[in-house]
Amino acid sequence: MPTITFLGAAQTVTGSCHLLTFKNRRYLLDCGQFQGPWHIEKRNYEPIGLVPSALHGVILSHGHLDHCGRLPLICSAGFAGKIYCTHPTKDIAMLILLDSAHLLKEEFLWKRRKLERIGIKAKAPLYSVEDVWYCHENFATPVSFGQRIKLSRELELILHLNDAGHVLGSAQIYLDYRPKKGKPLKILYSGDLGDGGRPLVNDPTPPESPVDVLIMESTYGDREHRSYKDSIEEFREEVLRTIKNKGTVLIPTFALERAQEILYHIGQMKRERLISKNVPVFLNSPLAINITRVFLKHRSFCQKALVDDMQKRIPPFAFPGLKFTETAEESRMIHSVPSPKIVIAGSGMITGGRIKHHLKHDLWKENTTVIIVGYQARDTLGRKLIDGAKTVKIFGEEITVKARIVTINGFSAHAGKSQLIKYAQLARPKKVFLVHGEPDPLQHLKRSLKGVLPRSEIIIPEFKGQYRL
Ligand SMILES: [Zn+2]
Repeated sequence: MPTITFLGAAQTVTGSCHLLTFKNRRYLLDCGQFQGPWHIEKRNYEPIGLVPSALHGVILSHGHLDHCGRLPLICSAGFAGKIYCTHPTKDIAMLILLDSAHLLKEEFLWKRRKLERIGIKAKAPLYSVEDVWYCHENFATPVSFGQRIKLSRELELILHLNDAGHVLGSAQIYLDYRPKKGKPLKILYSGDLGDGGRPLVNDPTPPESPVDVLIMESTYGDREHRSYKDSIEEFREEVLRTIKNKGTVLIPTFALERAQEILYHIGQMKRERLISKNVPVFLNSPLAINITRVFLKHRSFCQKALVDDMQKRIPPFAFPGLKFTETAEESRMIHSVPSPKIVIAGSGMITGGRIKHHLKHDLWKENTTVIIVGYQARDTLGRKLIDGAKTVKIFGEEITVKARIVTINGFSAHAGKSQLIKYAQLARPKKVFLVHGEPDPLQHLKRSLKGVLPRSEIIIPEFKGQYRL
C-alpha cells in the first residue's frame, strides 16, 4: 500500500517535505527548510526522517527556500537520485540556496566571534556553499509543463507538472501510479497556489479531475485577500505622495516575484509619466537582481501580455532612472543620492540584508515612507514597524521612527480561502491532506471543505505522521 509521511509543513507553514513510498521506491515532494521562530527552525538540525541514499527522487514545486532549503542536507549525505522541476525552478532554487548558504556562514562567523569570548563553541552552519553545489549535479533535465516523465523502469509511475501561478516556474505536481496488481492512484500536490490576475506569472491551471489524493496548501485557509487592483492603487498613491514631498520610498521586499512585481509597477508609472524619469530607483539586492535575470531568461513561463510587451520591445524591468546595485560600495553610495528616490531591497521581513542600512539612514526622517508589501512574522523588525514602534534598534543603535509606515496586504502570491475551496472542489478528491498552514487556517479550511466535499476524507496530518494513500 503506498504511503505518505509528512516531514515538514504539517500544522505549520514552512519546511514542506512529504515522503511518498510506492513498494520499494521513495520520492519526496519538496525538501524545504523550516523558517521562523527557533522552536520551528531547530527542526532543520534534527534528523530529516529518511535515509538520503535510499531515496529515488525529489520533485520540487518551486524555488522558495521553505520548499527546497533542505536539499543540500540530503545531497551532501548520499542522495543519488534526481531532482525534477521546471527550468526556472532549478535556476531560482540554486540562487536562493547559494544566497542562504552565504547568510548562514555570515551568521555563524558572527556568532562564533561572540561565543568564543565566553568559551562556547558555535553550532556549525546548517549547510555550506559546497553542500549546495552537490545539489546541482542531482537536477534532472528540466521538466516542461504538461510533459510526462516515467520516474521508474520497475514501477508504472508517471510525473507531470502544471502551472501553479505562484512564482516563476512554480508547479502543481501530478503522479499517476498504475501498479500491475492493486488499484491505480492519481495524486495531486498543489505546491503553493497563486491567486491569479497577476502581471508576471500565469493564473494557476485548474486541477485535473478526479484525483484520488489531494495534498493541498492552506496558508490562507481562513481568509481572503484585499483585491490586487486596490492594493496597486494604494501603492501608487503612496509612492507619488512621497516623491511629491521629496522623500525616500523604502520597500523591503522578497527577492523572488515580489521584487520583480514592484519593479514592473514602478516601470508602468514611469511609462505613464507619473514619475519623472529623473527619479532614481534602486534595486539594491544581488539576489533579486539575479532572479530578475531568470525572469528574462525564462520569459516563456511569464504571463502572455508580458511576453507580448517584450516582443514589442517594452522591457518590463528596465526604465529611465533604474539602477541595479550589486556591490556593497554601490549600495552605500545610495545614501548620498538626494531625494526623491525609491529603494527596493531585501530582506522582505527586515531580518537582515541591505534594507536595514537604508532604514538606519532614513527611518528618522519625516518625508520617508516605508511600504511593507509582504508578510511580516512575529518578532521581526518589519512586524515592529507595522505594530507602530516609536523607536527600533538597528545595528545596536536606537533609531526614532518618524517615517510613514504603510502596509499593503494585497500582494500575497497565495490563493485566498475561496480559491482553495474551489480548487479542491474541482479536483474531486477521495482524500485530502491539508498542509502548509497554521492551526487556525487548517481547521477553518477543513470545516469548509467538509461542507462542499461531504464524501471526501479530509485530514490535517501530524508532523512525521505516516498515512496510507
Ligand atoms: Zn512559495
